Amino acid sequence: MQISKKVMRYCKFCKKHTLHDVSIASSGHKRGALKRGGKARVRKRGKWRGFGNLGRYSKPPITAWKRKTKSTKKTNLIYTCPECKKSTLQRKGTRAGKVMMQKE
Ligand SMILES: [Zn+2]
Repeated sequence: MQISKKVMRYCKFCKKHTLHDVSIASSGHKRGALKRGGKARVRKRGKWRGFGNLGRYSKPPITAWKRKTKSTKKTNLIYTCPECKKSTLQRKGTRAGKVMMQKE
């Protein structure tokens, strides 16, 4: 889904319509994959020696489910007023597979 960068919208602080800037709210940072059982760390600890794997480390763990219950996500947009620089969140998101900002 393509979203326009600027939208004419009512600002509840200025109490009038202004050309708002649209931005997508980030979903936050993902946590690091380096954990106690990480393959690289296992190798560095010298665990992979001798013959065979002694029944350990046969397959990597399932990182992502093959099929989720929901394949799309709701848009989470932030509208920023250029006059008062205050921003408001989108009230109700619409489902979309991928949200992209429109060029120009
Ligand atoms: Zn405003």
